Amino acid sequence: MKLKKILFLTAALSFILVSCKKDDYASDTFFAMDTFITISAQDADENLLKNAAKETEKYEQIFSRKDKDSQLYALNASNSSAVSDELLYMIKNAFEISENTNYAFNPCLGAISDLWDVTGAKHVATDEEIAEILPFCSPGEVKIDGNAVSKSDSKTVIDFGACAKGYTAQKIIEYLKENGAKNACVNFGGNVSVCGNSNEKENGWKVGVKNPFLTDDIIGYIVCTDKTVSVSGDYERFFESEGKIYHHIFDSATGKPADSGIKSIAVISSDGFISDALSTALFVMGVEKSLDFYSRRQYDFEAVIITCDGKVFTTDGIKEDFFFFDDAYFDGASYLKFEQ
Ligand code: AMP
Ligand code: MG
Repeated sequence: MKLKKILFLTAALSFILVSCKKDDYASDTFFAMDTFITISAQDADENLLKNAAKETEKYEQIFSRKDKDSQLYALNASNSSAVSDELLYMIKNAFEISENTNYAFNPCLGAISDLWDVTGAKHVATDEEIAEILPFCSPGEVKIDGNAVSKSDSKTVIDFGACAKGYTAQKIIEYLKENGAKNACVNFGGNVSVCGNSNEKENGWKVGVKNPFLTDDIIGYIVCTDKTVSVSGDYERFFESEGKIYHHIFDSATGKPADSGIKSIAVISSDGFISDALSTALFVMGVEKSLDFYSRRQYDFEAVIITCDGKVFTTDGIKEDFFFFDDAYFDGASYLKFEQ
């Protein structure tokens, strides 16, 4: 297993690690959607990559919560507005999956994110502050009537931070395919979308799953193609105060960082919106509810879950395609334990 791991790591890129591309791949890395994005495609010319980057910026201009020129910013700033078909599609799907996950995924937690401001002011919110804001974070505050979307209160802030990157990553793969690329991989900070294979010797791509306890390392990899792998973890965006970690994924029930026992989760789906939204939702739900949710088969996805106490769980459909490194560290003294 060790040799395999070394070979894999040597061949890998960074972040969620993606394996073994040959020299005929062209890549472009840029910053958009609040993260570093890398687009790689085999035999791609510079124009294709440039256009894919422009396409990404187009989606950012629709879904960004912070960009003052974006469509979502305009909707959040007004209490009622007519929205584009693309924004409407995202709103409808986000609100539907919110209901279907019993609000573990909640696209109206923008004001709670702002209160904690995990990457800025790093504020440990008090119970009083949370109680004041939480009533405005209910998806029920938003009404859809045709293309018109309205919020009952200006304090409600719609946020697609948990689903727009996975959705866009897959859209960019589709764009690359439509423009002639057969083999491609895009990495949107925590969301990797792939098509074809990384080289002719592989049946797809190897997407590494980061070790949330030792983030320069991976615990194994998933072999897949025509899929998006989305990761949610407490190590991605967080701050520490008085020895406690406060991360960026919130539980609607408490208005505080979710404390479900999951340290990180990778969700794999042929739909990038689903993989991204569910990685966040299942992170909030915890292992037991997540596996129960999976068994209902309402959505087509698979998952690899790592718990805070060092266990690794997988859903049934990924067992054959997930390769676990049995020397993946949990802490200095012990290894992660793979639960079969
Ligand atoms: P992800 O890294 O995909 O899990 O998304 C995390 C981001 O989604 C956060 O930075 C917030 O912008 C937003 N968010 C936080 N908690 C939730 C939640 N429970 N449901 C939906 N979005 C959330
Ligand atoms: Mg997500």
